Amino acid sequence: MLLDGKRVLVTGVLNDASIAFSVARRAQAEGAEVVLSSFGRVMRLTERTAKRLPVEPTIVELDVANPDDLAALSERVGGRLDGVLHAIGFAPESCLGGGFLDAPWEDVAVALQVSAYSLKSLAVAALPLMERGGSIVGLDFDNRVAWPAYDWMGVAKSAFESVSRYLAKELGPKGVRVNLVAAGPIRTLAAKSIPGFEAFEDVWAQRAPLGWDIKNAEPVAAACVALLSDLFPATTGEMLHVDGGYHAVGA
Ligand code: NAD
Repeated sequence: MLLDGKRVLVTGVLNDASIAFSVARRAQAEGAEVVLSSFGRVMRLTERTAKRLPVEPTIVELDVANPDDLAALSERVGGRLDGVLHAIGFAPESCLGGGFLDAPWEDVAVALQVSAYSLKSLAVAALPLMERGGSIVGLDFDNRVAWPAYDWMGVAKSAFESVSRYLAKELGPKGVRVNLVAAGPIRTLAAKSIPGFEAFEDVWAQRAPLGWDIKNAEPVAAACVALLSDLFPATTGEMLHVDGGYHAVGA
């Protein structure tokens, strides 16, 4: 199996619609030992969701904006890690769904910290457990162009993409690969919280050469698992599209 003998930290499991839930399930099916992270008031939801995985995993506390949690991560997870999935995104209401010109810096700063800088924070926090090298995978929404409604979350994703390339440069010599999976729209809680996100949903299914099912995170999960495995030993700083081919067509 692809992840036999590997130990993987999966962030971002909230409910069974979470992309990270599909990744965790698939990783277990491929032989991985999975550790989840969650935080604060959503921890209970993650605990409930974790029971629906084939093997109930350990869950550690990690608010990716909390320096104490970051400092304690390697101790909380323990052992060693071969892979980490970053599936974390958040932006205050003012940053999404219009009002791009009005969102205050304090809100934008939160979006950037939780959704972009956090990839660096998570990587550094996990690094002590990755002495043998490994793979860090992040979930992206390709922001090389401006989208309706995505606003400052889009700007955060552009930063996230750049962070992944700088991390690839810093961590390559330590044998750690850093790649992103740029997913098409999936109907998760995070997506539903973006007013006007439906605008993407119809156009995606119509335009993507391979078609697109907004309720099916399995193709995204499969790509994440492949990048977490040993199948891509010479790939880092890459953005792998799993979007039905939407990014390749203009209209
Ligand atoms: P989701 O709502 O299920 O997951 C978002 C997760 O972020 C939640 O588990 C939440 O607990 C976590 N999170 C928020 N703030 C956090 C913090 N401070 N510390 C730790 N965790 C925190 O939604 P999802 O769509 O599965 O999102 C996962 C990732 O996938 C996000 O980065 C999102 O931008 C990305 N993505 C989603 C889509 C989509 O259409 N749903 C498309 C491309 C990329």
